[in-house]
Amino acid sequence: MDGVPGKFDVVVVGAGPAGSAAAYLLAKAGFKVLILERGRGAGSKELFGGKVYAPPLRDVWPGLDKEAPIHRWVTRERISFVRGSRVATIEYSLGRRVGFTTYLPELAKWMSDKAVEAGAVLVDEVRVDEIVVRDGRIVGVRSGPDTVEADVVVDAEGVNRLLLERLGLVERLNPSYVALGVKEVLNVGKGTIEERFALPKGEGLAWMVAGDVTAGIPGGGFIYTMKDTIAIGLVLHIGKAMEKAEAGQINKHVSRILEEFRLHPYFKQFWKDADVMEYGAHMTIEGGLRMVPKRLYAPGLVIVGDAAGLLLNTGYTVRGVDFAVASGRIAAEAIIEAFNRGGPTEENLRLYEERLKESFVWRELVRHRWIGRGMEDECYFTSMPGVLIRILEKLYEADYEEPTLIDALLESLAEEDISLTKLIMKLGSVVSKL
Ligand SMILES: Cc1cc2nc3c(=O)[nH]c(=O)nc-3n(C[C@H](O)[C@H](O)[C@H](O)COP(=O)(O)OP(=O)(O)OC[C@H]3O[C@@H](n4cnc5c(N)ncnc54)[C@H](O)[C@@H]3O)c2cc1C
Repeated sequence: MDGVPGKFDVVVVGAGPAGSAAAYLLAKAGFKVLILERGRGAGSKELFGGKVYAPPLRDVWPGLDKEAPIHRWVTRERISFVRGSRVATIEYSLGRRVGFTTYLPELAKWMSDKAVEAGAVLVDEVRVDEIVVRDGRIVGVRSGPDTVEADVVVDAEGVNRLLLERLGLVERLNPSYVALGVKEVLNVGKGTIEERFALPKGEGLAWMVAGDVTAGIPGGGFIYTMKDTIAIGLVLHIGKAMEKAEAGQINKHVSRILEEFRLHPYFKQFWKDADVMEYGAHMTIEGGLRMVPKRLYAPGLVIVGDAAGLLLNTGYTVRGVDFAVASGRIAAEAIIEAFNRGGPTEENLRLYEERLKESFVWRELVRHRWIGRGMEDECYFTSMPGVLIRILEKLYEADYEEPTLIDALLESLAEEDISLTKLIMKLGSVVSKL
């Protein structure tokens, strides 16, 4: 950390969306802020091409729509259910602009540039090794032999949260609470996205895929249209994948599972003749509230974004970046108020947790708290999509005689080895939690 001067009001660990949002607002309010990022430049360790909800980002950066690296505003949402080569798709055409597609490395770089413009100092290629505690309070961070002192440390280190684990604030990552995300960027050539996806000019599509694309592992596929490229990928439940591998039920590398998705007879038409430009993998949260640490603050510390377990993946939407940014904003506002009240003591920083728990982020996580456990129930990812496809197959692929809807349902249930009672209970349990 050569050249990093003296003491800071706030040190932010990690230049992801959560860290940059907090750093931007604090620097704008006149605080002396240092951001430490282990990657080469902000965004270099980020992975996804996906969809981001704009409203919580506009709360921090009102000029977002004009300035941010937005690829396309999403005006079409699709969900497909897959069984073998058969696919059933629902498409929804939106009436307004809520989310946009982007590559997170570009968006995270834009966010951290904003923090630097506001006066924060960003030092990259520095891995923080430890959050330093002295006399029961956090006083800064250490990287190798160097220590930087600060009144407050904002932990925005993301899902791995090794620093919090070392500090004893969270337990080791439980494989059942996380998923592996793998992604490919496909180059389809300039100006072809609209034609391939039947989109109006400049508009975008977010597409979730459930069923036979995950080799039986709970999770799903995603497809997002960028300016001239397509991001496709899979999110796979790590705990269940490990169980299946140990039981000898799968022996495929994750890159092979993704390749099979790319080569799927139905989906491959959308990226025909495309080059694979990029491949990457990153961990993400599946556990909902279960990943949230018991406390989100300590004397001189607040925890934001993925490190705080604040991500919701419902299967039809992913709320990670906007939750991260909102938590960064709430943390910055609480830190400013803590200083106004006399300093970032434990008592004053409690404000952060209180405000976060009053916010939409917390309400969403509580409302959907069953999702983490639902992810572990394989039937939602295998036999349920299977039943739907079988019904459609019987209705639409009959040679002479079409069954009635009820006969098609009963036959399909029998073929998938699900009783009607089980189906009603499973659907009932989903509906009751919605
Ligand atoms: C495959 C995949 C698809 C996704 N799709 C979507 C989507 O479509 N929409 C959506 O909203 N969200 C999506 N997410 C989730 C989203 O990426 C995260 O929720 C979001 O990036 C969290 O932001 P963050 O700032 O908390 O953490 P991160 O973005 O992970 O940033 C943490 C930063 O801290 C740095 N860091 C970590 N440890 C240290 C250290 N010791 N010292 C210094 N720096 C450190 C890292 O290098 C990184 O830059 C997806 C995630 C994955 C993996």
